[in-house]
Amino acid sequence: MPTEGRILLEARRELVEHLRRSGYVTTRLVEAAMLAVPRELFVPEHNRPASYADHPLDIGHGQTISAPHMVAIMVEAMGPRDGLRVLEVGGGSGYHASVIAEVIGPRGHVWSVERIEPLAAAARRNLEAAGYADRVTVLVGDGSCGWPEHAPYDRISVACAAPSVPDPLRAELADGGSLLIPVGGPYVQELLRVTRRGDRFDVEDLGGCVFVPLRGRCGHS
Ligand code: SAH
Repeated sequence: MPTEGRILLEARRELVEHLRRSGYVTTRLVEAAMLAVPRELFVPEHNRPASYADHPLDIGHGQTISAPHMVAIMVEAMGPRDGLRVLEVGGGSGYHASVIAEVIGPRGHVWSVERIEPLAAAARRNLEAAGYADRVTVLVGDGSCGWPEHAPYDRISVACAAPSVPDPLRAELADGGSLLIPVGGPYVQELLRVTRRGDRFDVEDLGGCVFVPLRGRCGHS
């Protein structure tokens, strides 16, 4: 393996070990997924050396790829299982979607919506390079009210911050399914998990977080 590849692989292992010790990664399933997905393929060339630092990185168009610990928290919190049908809102680089694709396996599928066309195009290239293109479908458009075409979803994962939980997202959940969404103001939010039980929706607050805003019809104007 060329030296750069070896260094990055070593850095990935160190990062995942850090995430495990810090309590962000709690299951073997998520540990294996974070070890499997090469984050360097999802960050712009000039940021590549920082691929395994535990913070968000600029991906252009004023957007960021989430910090690895946030991806770990969200993938653990989604209750990953084989074969799930997942909607991601805020596809960005495609990294988070790939980690989800890893934990749900080849029988599951991720539909990942991104509103900024060039980012969606880059995400498709990244997913292709990383080998997840067949498990992740990138959709371009406003996903703030979800994407009814492929509903119901077992899980919905929103990677941008909403002013409140959009009703259409609840409606697109399968019975027993759950939705992860950061809700709050522009600078700090709470990560909520909304679980559907028939017509009832239980809400849990999983703690503070910071995301870029969810724009669009059911998000911020
Ligand atoms: N999960 C991504 C990081 C997401 S950053 C990753 O792993 O890289 C949040 C993304 O949400 C940004 O790319 C932003 O353009 C997108 N976004 C914001 N509002 C949106 C909307 N209404 N529909 C779809 N994407 C949206």
